Amino acid sequence: MTQQLQNAINKASRIKMTVKFLGNRSYLVVTPQAHRYTVRFETFDGQRYGRCNCKAGAANMACYHLPKAAMVDTAIQSMRSH
Ligand SMILES: [Zn+2]
Repeated sequence: MTQQLQNAINKASRIKMTVKFLGNRSYLVVTPQAHRYTVRFETFDGQRYGRCNCKAGAANMACYHLPKAAMVDTAIQSMRSH
């Protein structure tokens, strides 16, 4: 795991964000500043890939919206596979 990703995960657990499931593995993340970003996940060969439409995400950098949405995605996917 890269340091950048680790930092993003740490930040995601500190900051209280609201994640709303939009359907089809898309999530709306609302920050405390009321910024709204959309995160989408896809799975290839058992590996999950996420993409956020914030500035960092658009530059292919690890942002903290992604791990937050990933926690919700993991919960939803595990519910569906049972
Ligand atoms: Zn983001």
